[in-house]
Amino acid sequence: MKYALILPDGCADEPVPQLGGRTPLEAARIPHMDSIVARGRVGRVRTVPKGLTPGSDVATLSVIGYDPVAHYTGRAPLEAVARRITLSPDELVFRCNLVTVVDGKMEDFSAGHISQPEAEKLVADLQAKLGSERIMFHTGVSYRHLVTIKDADWMKVKCTPPHDIPGQPVSGHLPTGKGSEVLRELMERAGQVLAGHEVNQVRRDLGESPATAIWLWGQGAMPRLPSFRKRFGIQGAAITAVDLIRGLAISVGWKLIEVEGATGYLDTNYAGKGEAACKALDDVDLVAVHIEAPDEAGHNGDAVAKTKALERIDEHIVGPLLEKLEGFDEWRVLCLPDHPTPVRIKTHTADPVPFAMAGTGIVPDEATEFTEKAGAASDLHIDPGHELMEYFLKSRHEG
Ligand SMILES: [Zn+2]
Repeated sequence: MKYALILPDGCADEPVPQLGGRTPLEAARIPHMDSIVARGRVGRVRTVPKGLTPGSDVATLSVIGYDPVAHYTGRAPLEAVARRITLSPDELVFRCNLVTVVDGKMEDFSAGHISQPEAEKLVADLQAKLGSERIMFHTGVSYRHLVTIKDADWMKVKCTPPHDIPGQPVSGHLPTGKGSEVLRELMERAGQVLAGHEVNQVRRDLGESPATAIWLWGQGAMPRLPSFRKRFGIQGAAITAVDLIRGLAISVGWKLIEVEGATGYLDTNYAGKGEAACKALDDVDLVAVHIEAPDEAGHNGDAVAKTKALERIDEHIVGPLLEKLEGFDEWRVLCLPDHPTPVRIKTHTADPVPFAMAGTGIVPDEATEFTEKAGAASDLHIDPGHELMEYFLKSRHEG
């Protein structure tokens, strides 16, 4: 049996006035996704357990068959895995944003999407001045970096994501809890290193947001996930442009397939991803294709871009994959977003999402279109969401 898992990130939504009261899934021309439903079935799944934040990491962990309540250790650890940073058991890793704080307020959580060369210079200097045997700065991309701290397994700190406090005074949102003084001191000293830095002087001169501070959050220890092969008996591979999803894939022992021009944005190389996914099926049992573009459009509040992204995914990824799958004797396909990113609120929600499933042994229902409404109306609601993968891979679906 060959399996394909297609993940249009954040594509579930609400009716949008701009689209004549339709959701992007309803408005988009997506004949291949619809044909999955027409030949198979829809359902609805809760991917974000109550009490957890609806991040792509938590939700995608559910989708690939792992209970986030038991297995999620934080965002930064997955990014560390993606960058092949290994942590010792007593070590914690934190996301280290370069941010702009003005008059004590969080002005910009991305320091104006600072450029890579500038960021590299800043992080190298932070490491040179503040790094030690215990504390290390690791360069990432643009404003997104990592800090690892050894002898930290006793710490019990609470940190706030910087994008959650736009324009607010940072003083009330600094790390708290056992060991948090280590973080507050590091943030304080980093601010001193950054204050007069030449990179920031240039940015100020150009009217761009300077990186005045670091912000530590998203921390955790190394995730210890049982491998997908051990859990489900099959070998998987993943295609994604996003570090979080790369980290998840590596953590469960999937092969990573890199596609040139896969950007994680609306201009990603859809056809390249589709081709790579088809090719992967000759090699592995399951291929997962993750596409960030619909989520990105959701965050931008752009319903039209979201609809276009869905249409491109349908044409260049779902279509070719279905054709490829049909060349095998036994196959199944599953398509769903990890979570909704409604354009109205421009951020993720924890609401259940629709899924479409078809292939060998899957008994069709009456539905013919892949929409939120069809998912909600179906009699198949899966909660907790990590049970969906078992259902997809193993169930025999006898009448
Ligand atoms: Zn997501």
